[in-house]
Amino acid sequence: AGFAALGLHPALLRAVAERGFETPTAVQQQAIPLALPQADGGCADLIVCSQTGSGKTAAYLLPLLHGLLQTSGAAATASIKAFGKPAESAARPSVLVLCPTRELAQQVGRDAVELLRHARFLRVATVVGGLPYRQQLQRLSGVHLLVATPGRLLDLQRSGRLRLDAVQHLVLDEADRMLDLGFADDLAAIHTLTAARRQTLMFSATMAPPVQRLAAGVMRTPRQVML
Ligand code: AMP
Repeated sequence: AGFAALGLHPALLRAVAERGFETPTAVQQQAIPLALPQADGGCADLIVCSQTGSGKTAAYLLPLLHGLLQTSGAAATASIKAFGKPAESAARPSVLVLCPTRELAQQVGRDAVELLRHARFLRVATVVGGLPYRQQLQRLSGVHLLVATPGRLLDLQRSGRLRLDAVQHLVLDEADRMLDLGFADDLAAIHTLTAARRQTLMFSATMAPPVQRLAAGVMRTPRQVML
């Protein structure tokens, strides 16, 4: 079955086709239906054990962007019509993707922009260490989906220019590597700053005990995809 059978928003299906993706990869086939908003409107937590190169990025971006198009799409369009541009208030993203490295975060940010090429009213920003702070602050305005490395994210949150209380969907990409790089405390801090009722999607190449402990701390009865 193709991407259309997954019930994704037409703007995403067009972008996927233009990107040259014909059929979903195994991880996409399994994870997308589980991560999409469910019939009762809720969103389930999910642990996915998969390697880089499996298509894991689109496996979480597509269902989360679908949800954004369903919920904030109408509101964002209305605010653009009313004011000509999105509100300039403090950034309050509803989707947050955490990555272990600057390179991965930037790639995920580029992938999200590509997938939103037919839905440009949804705004994506990437914040990573080692790049000019002020430039990254400017890009945060009106952001819906934020991709970040944990340390820089907390710096920005502490500066007061970014609020995480509206984060309803949290992705921990390459969770095992984030733990290897010493981000356990940062992840715990970020977890407590985000919305209490929140969907968490965790991707990891391994399910070693530290990854399982992290999962137990940030998720409620997650569904599992093991490839
Ligand atoms: P990832 O595992 O997310 O890093 O993706 C690995 C590579 O596979 C990236 O270059 C993607 O653009 C590509 N890719 C992801 N999904 C598909 C798909 N369904 N069909 C073809 N290529 C894909």
